[in-house]
Amino acid sequence: MSLSLVQSRALLGLEAASVTVEVHLANGLPNFTLVGLAEVEVKEARERVRCAIQNAGLEYPNNKRITVNLAPADLPKDSGRFDLPIALGILAASGQVDAQRLAGHEFAGELSLSGELRPVRGALAMAMARAAAPGPASARLVLPQASALEAALVPGTEVYGARHLLDVVAQFLPEGAMPPDGAQDSGWSRIEPPAAAGMSQLLPDLSDVKGHAAAKRVLEIAAAGGHSVLMAGPPGSGKSMLAQRFAGLLPPMSPQEALESAAIASLAGRFRAEQWMQRPTAAPHHSASGVALVGGGSPPRPGEISLAHHGVLFLDELPEFTRSALEALREPLETGHITIARAARRSEFPAKFQLIAAMNPCPCGHLGSRLRNCRCTPDQVVESQSSCALVKVIDGAPKPCA
Ligand SMILES: [Zn+2]
Repeated sequence: MSLSLVQSRALLGLEAASVTVEVHLANGLPNFTLVGLAEVEVKEARERVRCAIQNAGLEYPNNKRITVNLAPADLPKDSGRFDLPIALGILAASGQVDAQRLAGHEFAGELSLSGELRPVRGALAMAMARAAAPGPASARLVLPQASALEAALVPGTEVYGARHLLDVVAQFLPEGAMPPDGAQDSGWSRIEPPAAAGMSQLLPDLSDVKGHAAAKRVLEIAAAGGHSVLMAGPPGSGKSMLAQRFAGLLPPMSPQEALESAAIASLAGRFRAEQWMQRPTAAPHHSASGVALVGGGSPPRPGEISLAHHGVLFLDELPEFTRSALEALREPLETGHITIARAARRSEFPAKFQLIAAMNPCPCGHLGSRLRNCRCTPDQVVESQSSCALVKVIDGAPKPCA
């Protein structure tokens, strides 16, 4: 058969829409054409796939005209995640893999020139989309080993991890074919959710903080009521230390919350299995731009506020953040999500976080301190208080601050 179909998924924010990779081999001038709104990284798949197939010792159809279509054509596609499905499509169309047996599987993975599989971003979003999709839930996900573990966290998904292109090919050989040289049994395995999942390590909390009775009380009330907090105090008084412990005061995550939070981390390529079921704390530096804070880019990527979803966003040195960056926090603080619209596409990311901010009461930091005298001019103090007024704006109802 010279036409083959392989299923995969494209990432659009947190959504992972189904993509069919169609490969057609025809006689004619040797050529490799890739169509279907592919970004630069996907177009480079041509070179990676050719080298990977040749270096793995498989047969690349050098004398054929290869057409690869990523359908639907109007859905933007980025990153190297389509390398594996394209390679399998070519192998299926040239009869080296059984096209019938590929049905019911979804594939994603970037190929190295030697055929090794490299991890992809957003494997968790892929598995969640697969689990939520209508129709038979029997589709199996085939992913690079490093990405498979996070996809296996989604209940009810059957996930297989592979190390090398040959390990995948060995599973889908036509009837009676000999396994390719170099395929290893250990390279292919069904991935079970980690046994430690659900047993979250305890985050540090206020139990090991001496003194600070008032600040501890304030943080406990804020944690219980879901309030934002602004801490003002001289440098070295423990504001950052207290803020880093705030996530430890919050109740344990539900599995659904943990999945949402992990899906965003996986989208940004920051998912760590040991952080599963732990409330995240995002602490961007004050030089962060508005886009870094709320998300953006093309294709849209989640920002720090989304990485803090179901956790804590800690803004240290609040007055040093640019006004536009802080203003951008206003909408997500109210609605719990952020919509990023770009000319070509629009993505929505959840951003339900608790805001903890810290600042010095004046530029030198010692205003009101009994230990050292403040050396700031009245103008400088007024200026730093005006950024304090900004916090009132962000937080909605006016409150006394500092
Ligand atoms: Zn001062």
